[in-house]
Amino acid sequence: MAFEGLAERLQSTLSKIRGKGVVSEADVKAMMREVRLALLEADVNFKVVKDFISNVKERAVGQDVLKSLTPGQQVIKVVNEELTKLMGGEQSKIAVAKKSPTVVMMVGLQGAGKTTTTGKLANYLRKNSNRKPLLVAGDIYRPAAIKQLETLGNQLNMPVFSLGDQVSPVEIAKQAVEKAKEEHLDYVLIDTAGRLHIDETLMGELQQIKETVNPDEILLVVDAMTGQDAVNVAESFNEQLDLTGVVLTKLDGDTRGGAALSVKAVTNTPIKFAGMGEKLDALEPFHPDRMASRILG
Ligand code: GDP
Repeated sequence: MAFEGLAERLQSTLSKIRGKGVVSEADVKAMMREVRLALLEADVNFKVVKDFISNVKERAVGQDVLKSLTPGQQVIKVVNEELTKLMGGEQSKIAVAKKSPTVVMMVGLQGAGKTTTTGKLANYLRKNSNRKPLLVAGDIYRPAAIKQLETLGNQLNMPVFSLGDQVSPVEIAKQAVEKAKEEHLDYVLIDTAGRLHIDETLMGELQQIKETVNPDEILLVVDAMTGQDAVNVAESFNEQLDLTGVVLTKLDGDTRGGAALSVKAVTNTPIKFAGMGEKLDALEPFHPDRMASRILG
């Protein structure tokens, strides 16, 4: 379950202060030491933890909190609000272009769940806002990727645009957008190539696609279970491509939560969706407030 480990740690720490009628500055400090350790063990970025602790402390030792009737609960409320802020505050929705189609580039490293997420997102868009997506097979290097997307398209009964593996991904993307215009489709979801590691060729190709189709969204798909590695990947992709959002996959298996709690603060790119399983309906919009409440119980 998502955040299970972190949730358990934080909840047991906070339970010590929850019912307290009198909370001293020393109580808050002691509690925040434990919160700090819990976050570091959850693989939250070091600097993010430092800023978070200092923000909570500053607010929690304020007059209003310590002198309130339920100081313990007030402190927990502050922690909840700061966690929400850390994950982006307001929910960040997927773009809708003024003029259809909305073009979305799906980027990320191999194995992160990019192709699966492309299918899930198409399913989500149709189910929740009645949109008509076109899936685009732009990952021509991984032999199984085109087939995988075609299979997803079949399962969803949705069109897949493919020109095989001999045409450049830039050309594929360009023609796919043309096709979506002709057929009055609303979203073009371009599955791009992934590599095991970030390299210049990959980034160069992605930049070319970006320049050619001028996407409304560039969504980075990262595996939440890789913690700080996911955050580093997000930083690199963001530097090169100026991401508009992140999709955190495999949150269903991530007991720690380090990536979810660090990505926004480190890259200033919002998490827009979370993958919660392998099935096509296992994609949820990311709600920072609900996530914070889930962590704090
Ligand atoms: P790609 O190389 O980035 O295109 O990765 P794939 O889409 O092929 O996904 C790699 C593996 O991750 C597959 O086995 C997917 O079923 C799995 N996967 C993707 N998203 C999720 C998720 O949110 N939760 C879980 N548990 N598995 C996922």
